[in-house]
Amino acid sequence: MHHITDRYKRIIDYMRISITDKCNLRCIYCMPKDGIKLFEHSEVLTYEEIVRIVRVAAGLGVKKIRITGGEPLIKRDLPFLISSIKAIEGIEDISLTTNGLLLKQKALQLKEAGLNRINISLDSFRSDRYREITRGGNIADVLDGIREAEMQGLRPIKINMVPIRGINDDEIEDFARATMTSENHIRFIEFMPFGSKDLWSVDRYIGTDEIKQRVSTIAPLEAVKARKSGPARYYKFREARGVIGFISPITHHFCSNCNRLRLTSNGLLRPCLFSDTEIDLKSALRSNSDDSELERLLRLSIEVKPQGHEMEHQRSMTLLKPMSKIGG
Ligand code: SAM
Ligand code: SF4
Repeated sequence: MHHITDRYKRIIDYMRISITDKCNLRCIYCMPKDGIKLFEHSEVLTYEEIVRIVRVAAGLGVKKIRITGGEPLIKRDLPFLISSIKAIEGIEDISLTTNGLLLKQKALQLKEAGLNRINISLDSFRSDRYREITRGGNIADVLDGIREAEMQGLRPIKINMVPIRGINDDEIEDFARATMTSENHIRFIEFMPFGSKDLWSVDRYIGTDEIKQRVSTIAPLEAVKARKSGPARYYKFREARGVIGFISPITHHFCSNCNRLRLTSNGLLRPCLFSDTEIDLKSALRSNSDDSELERLLRLSIEVKPQGHEMEHQRSMTLLKPMSKIGG
């Protein structure tokens, strides 16, 4: 089996694809209150263009694809995109990150199209607080969506929670405890300086060490054998059904295991979440370039992938573009 590595010997086999920068929510940690200026419709890659990029990437050794956004479930004909990507030789796994609001209606079609796995972002179990964090979301829709996805066999579901000091950090323990009775994974993600300066400050940020320490006051955590790729570190409570993951983009482990490229919805390849370096695939796609030119640009973006970032040491952490623009 062939694969491609970067200058730091990391195997690059994973591509996250943002299919839209639009969203049906405006989470306080992701977007400013008044929203963001959206890409013009014509700037956003078509499904045909995305499929072509994936085909070339698969030829280089990309095996896993994640569809994200913005909110991917608001796009029409998503099952068509999923089945088209799934049919590409070399693609072994396709997953989706969603806020879950539209999942109840869509889980069945997604499963039938070949979707393997799903991540759902949920930052509170309390309906009033969920509504505040998301600026208007109805948690009942997300919970219905989770149940439907479970029924369709998209299990175990990974539930991603971003603890933010003074906002929802008092629910860290509740989320961890949910793994006692549910097989779904709970993953805690460090709050990152994206999007909205309404909210970001270093004081709101909570590092993995602190989150983990708080979780371990419930019961001892046992390490779960690390899986080969991906940035999460997994643990569980003895007897628990679900697993608890920690994703530490700001602190440890993250960069050295980084196996991914990101494709923004307007067709730019982003080698690193934390660097604004972007390589323009869209211009190549729309100027009749052949696949070898796309391949050259893909190789280039792997070539320039930085070794890591220094955010941990910058107390201020400058604000980056919203995640909905980059594709979270
Ligand atoms: N709309 C979908 C969703 O919410 O799952 C997919 C896109 S969203 C940008 C992807 C992920 O980025 C979500 O899990 C969200 O919690 C995360 N995210 C957004 N802004 C963040 C921030 N400032 N810090 C940490 N995670 C963030
Ligand atoms: Fe939308 Fe996801 Fe950003 Fe929330 S985190 S505003 S659901 S893109």
